[in-house]
Amino acid sequence: MTSIQFLKGVGPKRAELFGRLGIESLEDLLFYFPRAWEDRRPADRKEPLPFLIDAPVIKGRVKRVRDMYTSGRLRIFKVFLDTPFGEAEASFFKRHSPRFDVFAPLRKDLKEGREIWVTGTPEDPLFLSRLRADEYYPADDAAALKVHIGRIVPVYPLTEGLTGRFMREAVHEALEAGAADIGDFLPPDLPLKRGLAARDISLKAVHFPANNFELVQARRRFIYEELLLLGLAWAIKRAQTRGAVKDFAYEVKKTLLTPFRNNLGFALTAGQAHAINEIFTDMRAPAPMARLLQGDVGSGKTVVALSAMLLAAENGGQSVFAAPTEILAEQHFITLSRFLKGLKVRVELLTARVKGAERKSLLADLAAGKIDILVGTHAVIGDGVKFSNLRLVVVDEQHRFGVRQRAALRAKGDRADLLIMTATPIPRTLALALYGDLDLTVIKDMPPGRKPVKTSEAAEETALMAARDEAASGGQVYLVYPVIEETEDEDMRSVKAEFERLQGFFRGQSVGVLHGRLPGEQKKKVMEDFAAGRIRILVATQVIEVGIDVPNATLMVINNAERFGLASLHQLRGRVGRGRRDSRCLLVSRARGGDSAERLRAMVQTSSGFELSEKDIYIRGAGEILGVRQHGDMDLRMADLSRDKEILAQALEDRDALLSADPSLSLKENAGLRRRLQTLYATRWHLIDLS
Ligand code: ADP
Ligand code: MG
Repeated sequence: MTSIQFLKGVGPKRAELFGRLGIESLEDLLFYFPRAWEDRRPADRKEPLPFLIDAPVIKGRVKRVRDMYTSGRLRIFKVFLDTPFGEAEASFFKRHSPRFDVFAPLRKDLKEGREIWVTGTPEDPLFLSRLRADEYYPADDAAALKVHIGRIVPVYPLTEGLTGRFMREAVHEALEAGAADIGDFLPPDLPLKRGLAARDISLKAVHFPANNFELVQARRRFIYEELLLLGLAWAIKRAQTRGAVKDFAYEVKKTLLTPFRNNLGFALTAGQAHAINEIFTDMRAPAPMARLLQGDVGSGKTVVALSAMLLAAENGGQSVFAAPTEILAEQHFITLSRFLKGLKVRVELLTARVKGAERKSLLADLAAGKIDILVGTHAVIGDGVKFSNLRLVVVDEQHRFGVRQRAALRAKGDRADLLIMTATPIPRTLALALYGDLDLTVIKDMPPGRKPVKTSEAAEETALMAARDEAASGGQVYLVYPVIEETEDEDMRSVKAEFERLQGFFRGQSVGVLHGRLPGEQKKKVMEDFAAGRIRILVATQVIEVGIDVPNATLMVINNAERFGLASLHQLRGRVGRGRRDSRCLLVSRARGGDSAERLRAMVQTSSGFELSEKDIYIRGAGEILGVRQHGDMDLRMADLSRDKEILAQALEDRDALLSADPSLSLKENAGLRRRLQTLYATRWHLIDLS
């Protein structure tokens, strides 16, 4: 690989800046895709088509210039231009310097009569002919016309010290130097079949498309590549999991399962019974289980997971139950301990708070096989935790984990059964791509007697009064805020400030506070007090989002609701409506922007997690929801799983054909694909084994 330092203008200092963007080699730079494209063509040549940001550009002849001082330390250099469409005006702003003339270069370049291009932002939406100038180029600068102006130009994610202009130049040069050599790894009949442009041409076009058509084609090429590779990786992973054989066998003895069922105090729903059935069938099969259990908030997934863990325990196997947060792990521990009262099963909790001698003895017991079920956070179950015979890994609330963590957890329990639980329903095409290695069980029903939570938007005062009344009449309330501390954003309410401020308002009622920065001991105490009804009103952050189960909680007030995603709003709402009393959810919003109005409307309209998730995917795009994008997980740089459904379908179809003809990708024409998979999904993500 050629180091980035071989490029003109890139010394050690710039190389370090590139390094921050993950660009080390020329190849990294070539595949550093733009996040958008600016249409810098003159107004009469623009195309109103997707992916392009319309960038205002003016092309004209300099009529006169004016150099002005403002009252502050700012200086303005105004250029008046003659254009075919009339007069236009561009203003350059610079900080005054006592030592030199900041506008000397401009004065030299922008001589009267000279024809130039200027880019910038309109100073006023009503006067599009007045730009606050950004970049300018002489009209006879042939090099600039290739890279910067009069064309569609790429917009890259940048870092402090690297300008868009420099980045464009660097990429352009890298393309001249190396694009022809990038090769292709797809078997030749695939691009042909799908009408994909050649890889080298696509690479040039993805950075510097001549027009929108080229851009669409180039994107299609790379989206297809990414999705085909991802699809292959999951399919290979799946085959590898299914091909393994467990070195133990289960017998449903019911020595624990029966007393557990009798202890429950309720009958399983049909959905739960069905899920348990499928899971038990998997666990008793020779190949390790890899199953995703999906069920809306409150559908009772914990009981299902516990049944699976008890089957393991009956057969002398250990289970681990991983939760995304400490609070949730503690909740689960309390819940499981309650369900298992009187049974000969040892459950322990391991979080970052368990330290010193206590931790040491717990780990020793675990390694000696004296603990049947270990509950903990995902983080804790990482290093240094040794089991005697781990046979079942349960991961709760998967939507909080990225794909990468999942792969890591997977690697932990060698041939252990894996059960992943999520409340986020995933449409089929997405499930195929993202969880392609998992089997799916869905709990479609809810425990009987659940009443839908009445949801409405409310003003802050109304919501607070409702909270006071609810607490006074025997219910309990969550007041959720988006941040712990106050920020500069005046529209944003914080847990700490509101907790202070509301003391007076809720005088005589017991108010508690809960957020992620409290010491663990205190968090636990607050949760216990709230569960026991000693705290009536809980002021909290999103930490209570998942899993917390207090049936007497009847009112959920979400402040700054516009800041929360639909999945979070729905999860938060799911914290109430768990008991006999009617429950409500009040959404208090402040500054409304973007798609928040749409989200809040969706919340008011439906209580079905499935419908919300469909809407959410529609509103936000799937990558973000499923934690692919935000964790930078997997190599989807161009593809968006929700948007690119058609290409995904094609890629998956081609994948299936490829694998059925050549399951191990050992044919000569598939060697390129195999190498690509090796670098990405075997070496880099440790997802599959291609050795
Ligand atoms: P989730 O699927 O969101 O994790 P939980 O497992 O936390 O849901 O269950 C929510 C609540 O419903 C718990 O209080 C649980 O004890 C209760 N529950 C679970 N199954 C049933 C059932 N079949 N009948 C009545 N209540 C149930
Ligand atoms: Mg749960």
